[in-house]
Amino acid sequence: MRIDIATLFPDMCNLVLSESIIGRAREKNLIEINCHNIRDFSDDKHKRVDDYPYGGGKGMLIKAEPVYRCVKYICEFLKLKNKIKPRIIYLSAQGKRLTQSKIKELASLENIILICGHYEGIDQRLIDEIVDEEISIGDYVVTGGELPALILADAVCRLQPGVLSDQECFMSESHYCDGVLEYPQYTRPYEWMGRKVPEVLISGHHANIKKWQEEKSLEKTKYVKQQD
Ligand code: SAM
Repeated sequence: MRIDIATLFPDMCNLVLSESIIGRAREKNLIEINCHNIRDFSDDKHKRVDDYPYGGGKGMLIKAEPVYRCVKYICEFLKLKNKIKPRIIYLSAQGKRLTQSKIKELASLENIILICGHYEGIDQRLIDEIVDEEISIGDYVVTGGELPALILADAVCRLQPGVLSDQECFMSESHYCDGVLEYPQYTRPYEWMGRKVPEVLISGHHANIKKWQEEKSLEKTKYVKQQD
């Protein structure tokens, strides 16, 4: 799978995606991630990409043209490599809330392009012209689309074959199956701050351990859903 990120802060994205599990997966070519600077596609001599919004209002808006050129450049490059049209996603506070089932869907695609807004966002015409879907990481606003894009990219990448040592790592995890949360887990020491590991987990009885994990999983899911 290949992910392209169109951003004003490619170094920030690259830095995060070069660490730990995702960094190692990139080194092993299990996934390909390319970060592109929207500013490189500006025809302004000072490489400006933003301007005042029509109709007034506070803040600046990213212009449509440099983002369009950046995405077009990526699409043309991809077309040379394969014929599959990339899914073009704009990270936006106005988008549909990101869920694990959307992550699973995106993880099955060959190519996705993530567009990161900044300032007050991006000229609506760019969104109308090329964006397939808008995705939000939650009902709050952050300063730019980079952190949302990194969250999405990380969640998608860890589902790629070989990225995690064992597929079961993510299959038993929270949200993978119908929003069910994972059971509580414990490691050494057996007793910490007067709190002991549940006896069943050191019993060595696999069937009982599985039953306990399933029960705790459902209990936790029910409890968290009640808090919503
Ligand atoms: N003016 C926009 C609004 O009211 O919807 C918010 C712009 S925000 C300050 C700048 C950029 O951050 C957006 O263009 C978007 O790319 C990103 N962003 C902010 N909050 C987000 C969220 N909850 N999910 C995804 N992207 C977000």
